[in-house]
Amino acid sequence: MPVRDIAAIDPRPTPPQSQRMSEIFKGSFTQQEPIPDDGIAAALAVMQHGRLHRYNTVAGEVAEAALLEEEFAAQVGAKYCLAVASGGYAMTTAMRACGVKAGDKVLTNAFTLAPVPGAIASLGAGPVFVGVTEGLVIDLDDLAGKLDQACVLLLSHMRGHICDMDALMAICDGAGVTVIEDCAHTMGASWNGVPSGRHGRFGCYSTQTYKHVNSGEGGLLVSDDADGMARAIMLSGSYMLFERHRAAPPPAVFKDIKYDTPNVSGRMDNLRAAILRPQLRRLGVQADNWNARYGVMSRGLAETPGLTLIARPKAEHFVASSFQFLLLDWSPEAVQKVIARCLARGVELKWFGAPEPVGFTSRYDSWRYAPSASMPKSDRVLAGIVDMRLPLTFSLADCAQIAGIIRAEVAAVFQAA
Ligand SMILES: *Cc1c(COP(=O)(O)O)cnc(C)c1O
Repeated sequence: MPVRDIAAIDPRPTPPQSQRMSEIFKGSFTQQEPIPDDGIAAALAVMQHGRLHRYNTVAGEVAEAALLEEEFAAQVGAKYCLAVASGGYAMTTAMRACGVKAGDKVLTNAFTLAPVPGAIASLGAGPVFVGVTEGLVIDLDDLAGKLDQACVLLLSHMRGHICDMDALMAICDGAGVTVIEDCAHTMGASWNGVPSGRHGRFGCYSTQTYKHVNSGEGGLLVSDDADGMARAIMLSGSYMLFERHRAAPPPAVFKDIKYDTPNVSGRMDNLRAAILRPQLRRLGVQADNWNARYGVMSRGLAETPGLTLIARPKAEHFVASSFQFLLLDWSPEAVQKVIARCLARGVELKWFGAPEPVGFTSRYDSWRYAPSASMPKSDRVLAGIVDMRLPLTFSLADCAQIAGIIRAEVAAVFQAA
């Protein structure tokens, strides 16, 4: 073989170290995959017949929304499922169906996103915040100490981190506290083989664009509790058409509930349901795709000085649509430096310790409508949480590049400090 220029053979020779240090990531942290072709075809069919409202059916027709409920109930092993307008609506409806009313207190996570305390506040109720551990899950000791303050726990599996659900359920069952799960980040995940959303009385999911399936906006509610689900169906705005549901309790359960429950419209339409059904069938494959990206990130950041990866328990089967790490006990200035340096190289990190809420990174002490005592142990963790999205439009090579950039910038700031 004649001698040739190496660079002509390998179009991408390894760049020198100096060049790699200034590599810039060019991808978008907010770009979703397209809706799959079978979802688009199903959406077109709904638009062509024009019956977008879930109760607008012709004789013998089963609405897309009813089919979606039936399929999702089977997927998570629930008796009942209700499709609604948003994840936030699913949470408020679950709380209403459990009897939460104005003036009540509801336990919830200090580390979560604004729609969670917002759902509680929308009922005129008030959140009691429970602390977060270095594993980014609810602090069970703190929870145990606060159980006497409320009858309901709205448990947020924030960023897909699942606490010891067996221990949590034992604590809550023992105290007669009803658990409602916010599974906005755990659709497709499980604890000890039990799907997330199937431990508490209700499981609430979001199908909003940034979650695990994408219908723009939307939500799903699952339960085995016949009375609770009958109330939820009446609340969602089913008029007296609940018999058109397929994943609903039998009509007899509605006997009094249909007179006693107000209509707070928040239904899902057939167009969104049509888009979601094929996506749900692919959820397991997508979960593997997310977790492969998470694995590349974890390996790329392993043993970076100053950076703490989040330990994931064996019992937890997670769906990693996002990635977190801790810069624990760093000064705010040093964390800010890392965020700025990564951003300059195209890597968008979000920091839950910033003094002002930015984008979605608000904290329990940002929610002034729900005053709370300070929680120093949680504050230490929150001050160190760095968070990023992991969209499936990133390739594994993209993730390796992002991890390399974060590793280099964390190391540079850590060494200088
Ligand atoms: C997105 C989200 C919700 C609410 O979902 P929407 O469909 O946007 O109302 C609830 N909890 C968490 C943690 C979320 O991220």
